[in-house]
Amino acid sequence: MLRYALVLALVGCPKPAPVAPVPVEAPAVRDDVLAVTWTNTSAEVDAVALTVFRSARASLDLALADPTWTAAVEQTGDLSALKPAIVVDVDETVLDNSPYQARLVLDGGSFGKDSWGAWVEEAKAKPLAGAAEFLTEAKSRGIDVFYVSNRDESQAEATRRNLAATGFPDAETLDHLRFRPAEGDRTKTTRRKAIEATHRIVLLFGDNLYDFVELDKADRAARDALVAEHADWWGVRWFMLPNPMYGSWDDAVLGYTHPDPAAAREAREQALDPMR
Ligand SMILES: [Mg+2]
Repeated sequence: MLRYALVLALVGCPKPAPVAPVPVEAPAVRDDVLAVTWTNTSAEVDAVALTVFRSARASLDLALADPTWTAAVEQTGDLSALKPAIVVDVDETVLDNSPYQARLVLDGGSFGKDSWGAWVEEAKAKPLAGAAEFLTEAKSRGIDVFYVSNRDESQAEATRRNLAATGFPDAETLDHLRFRPAEGDRTKTTRRKAIEATHRIVLLFGDNLYDFVELDKADRAARDALVAEHADWWGVRWFMLPNPMYGSWDDAVLGYTHPDPAAAREAREQALDPMR
């Protein structure tokens, strides 16, 4: 009897009610997903980099033929006795860190010293398409290459290993890596000037306006004016790589503050408002 009752109870039991979905927190405002996806996955990103580095080849001939030619606004005087050099930024100019940005998207994180430091120490960033080939060609023509980066000086050795392993010239020692010191003058201009004591800087490569000329918290109008002022240098002495993931372009939109994600979204939308 007891067994019969048990069977009846089991058969008669309604199916367990579906478990109500656990309410998830509203997703954090995240404005970088499209840019990170483009940089990680598009064929176009390689095409742009190839375009930039290939078009720079024509400038090698011009720069080597003209001993007064310089790409550094602060370099003046008689440059004829100086050895030619190319100055490149590192991040998003010769090394592609978009996989690091992808991890931040997947993990729901944001840029942080620890996660960034771990990525740098991995030394596995891939080169931008055409970058190593172009700089190797320049080196073979007697042009030194300097890597002027705002990575910390303490990260220079890991970066050097990454550059050397991916075919970049002048990465056998730290001599050509000019990274940001822990204290003192931390500007790129000062580090370029040190190079200018012995070298004529013939070309500059970057992904950020301040890889070319540094401005202190310049607003968008001042940044636009700087680009226009040097209109003849772009694609001739100055070569810009695209970086939609981060940079001073976004800092300018945010007024060089660090608002929370929701406030940052609002500021970006406000920047678009005049386009109505
Ligand atoms: Mg950069």
